[in-house]
Amino acid sequence: MIRIAFFDTKPYDRQAFEAQLAENPFAKGIKASFFEPRLDRTTASMAKGHDAVCIFVNDVADKDTIDVLVALGVKLIALRCAGYNNVDFKYAHGRIALCRVPAYSPYAVAEHAMAMLLCLNRNLHHAYVRVREFNFTLTGLTGFDLHGKTAGIVGMGKIGRAFASICQGFGMDVVAYDAYPSPMDGVKFLSLGEVLSKADVLSLHCPLTKDTHHMINKKTISSMKKGAVLINTSRGGLVDSIALLGALKTGRLGGAALDVYEEETGLFYEDQSYRIVQDDIIARLISLPNVLVTSHQAFLTKEALSNIAGTTIDNIASYFDNGELKNGVAG
Ligand code: NAD
Repeated sequence: MIRIAFFDTKPYDRQAFEAQLAENPFAKGIKASFFEPRLDRTTASMAKGHDAVCIFVNDVADKDTIDVLVALGVKLIALRCAGYNNVDFKYAHGRIALCRVPAYSPYAVAEHAMAMLLCLNRNLHHAYVRVREFNFTLTGLTGFDLHGKTAGIVGMGKIGRAFASICQGFGMDVVAYDAYPSPMDGVKFLSLGEVLSKADVLSLHCPLTKDTHHMINKKTISSMKKGAVLINTSRGGLVDSIALLGALKTGRLGGAALDVYEEETGLFYEDQSYRIVQDDIIARLISLPNVLVTSHQAFLTKEALSNIAGTTIDNIASYFDNGELKNGVAG
């Protein structure tokens, strides 16, 4: 019997994993406990009696948390997401195994990025509210044609490439920067500085690392086109939120579509509607008419949830059945 403790479980996670546990032949012998709290040093003791923990983007597996898990005999941290910036993977090396889901649906995230761009640019978030109040005026709802504009993409991996194809379908020119570029038809690979200076719409699709932390900051924003729109569906830490807010207030940037936020842990995925949100930066960003925020939901399609659950179960089963670490994260 392999016992897995799921942390930060939401109803849609549970549904997708329960379907896998019932149907997937690799899931035989796996027993799941679904916990609502996020994993961190204060909740890690809930993993007592389990062989593996399964965590998501806002769980924290830092040194202290890893020490508790190791002391409890937990052998594997299975991330049910692609990014692993929330895990001290160097410290985990040799102490506890790590695996992740490197790809589950790049289309889910790329399509959400375009959905946010369309909504923001064409002011659908305002139009929806106006029409519900029977206010049929159009003043303030003017957008711009995407056709003929330049999309700048930073990070041309699976999601960046899917987003590039979508932009091409809209008749946009696509320029891109990647630290390890691999060619794509119709996409011009340039330096980061050139991409920033050419993009009417800049979309971030690279991982959050020490090198990419705050890659969008006061200095880099000043090299962007005046009025450019920023889309971030990757990780909040890529953007210096204070610099972004400043640039939006002055009109240096024309808008921002944010599915992620650097201080989202503890805020996103929870109902905060009856609380006084203490984070003045996100509160002010949300208050701006040219900012659209979603709660780290770009991954949330049926296909993605099913693929996440399938790959996670496969990763866990192969580690415990034959010692093979599939989709491992190296320290
Ligand atoms: P990927 O590994 O396929 O692609 C990442 C790309 O970034 C690679 O081409 C890599 O060469 C490039 N890169 C690495 N370092 C770079 C740097 N310093 N500058 C520029 N490019 C760099 O990953 P992916 O599946 O396309 O996912 C991209 C990111 O999207 C993930 O890291 C994750 O943070 C984020 N993500 C968000 C959601 C969501 O729901 N919002 C869901 C999945 C993934």
